[in-house]
Amino acid sequence: MSSTTPGNKPNNAPTADGEHKVSNFLRQIIEHDLAAGTYTQRRWGGSPGDAAHHAAGQPDPAKIRTRFPPEPNGYLHVGHAKSICLNFGLARDYGGVCHMRFDDTNPEKEDTEYVNSILDAVQWLGFNWEANGQQHLYQASDYFSFMYRAAEYLVETGHAYVDEQTTEQMRSNRGDFGKPGVDSPFRNRTPAENLARFREMRDGLHEDGSMVLRAKIDMASPNINLRDPAIYRIRRATHHHTGDQWCIYPMYTFAHPIEDALEQITHSLCTLEFEDQRPFYDWLLERLCEGGLLQSPPPRQYEFARLNLTYVITSKRKLAQLVYDHKVSGWDDPRMPTIVGLRRRGYTPESIQLFAERIGVTKSDSWIDYSTLEGCLREDLENKAHRGMAVLDPVKLVLTNWADVFGADDHTEDCTQPALPHSAIAEGQTPPPDRVFKIGKEVWIEREDFEEVPPKGYKRLFPGNVVRLKGGYVIECTGVGAKDANGQVTEVHAKVIPGTKSGTPGADSVKAKAAITWVSMASGVKAEVRLYDRLFLDAQPDAGGKDFIEALNPDSLKVVTAYVEPSLAAAKPDEKFQFERHGYFVADRADHLASGGKPVFNRVAGLKDSWGK
Ligand code: ATP
Ligand code: MG
Repeated sequence: MSSTTPGNKPNNAPTADGEHKVSNFLRQIIEHDLAAGTYTQRRWGGSPGDAAHHAAGQPDPAKIRTRFPPEPNGYLHVGHAKSICLNFGLARDYGGVCHMRFDDTNPEKEDTEYVNSILDAVQWLGFNWEANGQQHLYQASDYFSFMYRAAEYLVETGHAYVDEQTTEQMRSNRGDFGKPGVDSPFRNRTPAENLARFREMRDGLHEDGSMVLRAKIDMASPNINLRDPAIYRIRRATHHHTGDQWCIYPMYTFAHPIEDALEQITHSLCTLEFEDQRPFYDWLLERLCEGGLLQSPPPRQYEFARLNLTYVITSKRKLAQLVYDHKVSGWDDPRMPTIVGLRRRGYTPESIQLFAERIGVTKSDSWIDYSTLEGCLREDLENKAHRGMAVLDPVKLVLTNWADVFGADDHTEDCTQPALPHSAIAEGQTPPPDRVFKIGKEVWIEREDFEEVPPKGYKRLFPGNVVRLKGGYVIECTGVGAKDANGQVTEVHAKVIPGTKSGTPGADSVKAKAAITWVSMASGVKAEVRLYDRLFLDAQPDAGGKDFIEALNPDSLKVVTAYVEPSLAAAKPDEKFQFERHGYFVADRADHLASGGKPVFNRVAGLKDSWGK
């Protein structure tokens, strides 16, 4: 909660001010409501509350109110990021406020570890819940008393009853799509009788599961959610906030609309699977507005398609299984689609915001290709990530005439290269200082950059070929210097061509067939590089009830020992780079320069899209 930016402004907006945002059905609904003045009469009591509380307040300074309401039962993932960007983004764009709300009405699965990680994730993504001088951070468990009162109101007005049927009886009497439900024998008890029973439930006089409170709506409704849904159950469980104060807890479908209404939410956005719940959402709030408990007009629910991303699982439960079965190193394993995982992998908040903006919101489910997410990352880092050279599969190259040219074997020369290419510097922007690195007699090159017998069209090192060491000298390959017992080349020989250093007048005097990347052995730094690949081999690893564990990619992590130029070794954790020709890398936030002092980099993404192949 460190941010002090007012008005729910993101700390780092994805797009320049004034940039045209692509419209979508939610923006159209909001624009319509603003034009029609649907919510202009609402008042805000300064905090969530009932009708009387808000009526005593000021006209609401927020033009709209949205909310992000996670259950604190796991770490947030990229699907939640879509919802965060949507809810906070709409509030920002329309002079509204987005509430951060923990939907903690289920006592069993929740934990404060998750609460903190969720707050961190939202802030890291660039949003905050401070607006109009207030922190809009709420928890649904604070509303238990009101929810209880609302339930009593429904009982008293004949809109709810205590049902003592067994779970099985209730299930079979609910009917199905083709068959209307059957009334419970307890359905026609008097309000007074129901009220007495409900209070007994609250007072702990009945066993867990022995009875529930149900809304009394219509057992023949074509929408099964309206066939007298349960709204309160008995559950002796210690809640992480309210402790043992309650032994009855509201059902999600009852709690959620009330949470929205107490907070004066105008547009309650949820994923499509809640569409069938909307009639109950409306029914409940109408009853409570009618009874004067809640201020009118009540919030409205709108559904949008959840994010499905290829090669990615977005279910907290399944992600938890990967963690607890040690298939990954933890919630923040760089292969995880959790926000902490994406962050450690090297994704930036801006790239995720850009992704959310680009995929937009629709009303029908579809799959987004993983390459779209990677594309946003590349787009964001292209002009930001400093360049550097790293050799990931090193083999030694010796410049055999070095002492003849420079007078001594241990002579070194400084080379300079821009940290960002000219094309990445915006007009008027000062370019970052150049990188300076040394070249000497021995350098590391990539194993694939030498061929004893070149395949057709090969332009890099082979005996007799002339190549530039990028940013250094032009060299002529003379052949293999040494091989190991297996016949593998361990040393390549070449001759440096004097006067050809990049950036000097003689640089173009000799034409090189190719430029290869390299790191000097004298000043290059040994680093651990973690080459991450997709976690699953199946594009839809858990679709149709498939066992996603079977789809795990056995080669999703390859660790190599690399050599990097000194500017990279000096990186701070989380700093991102483009390793020339290899792609985008980040200094690992946990392990880079930790204890032993060794640099550790994660591959964020390659330079080109490799997902479609
Ligand atoms: P999970 O199934 O992973 O547990 P959930 O939907 O139960 O996810 P909540 O904590 O209840 O998780 O979700 C908080 C908000 O995030 C909800 O408003 C929900 O609609 C939204 N959300 C969750 N998953 C996605 C997704 N894949 N795409 C878009 N929004 C999502
Ligand atoms: Mg949920």
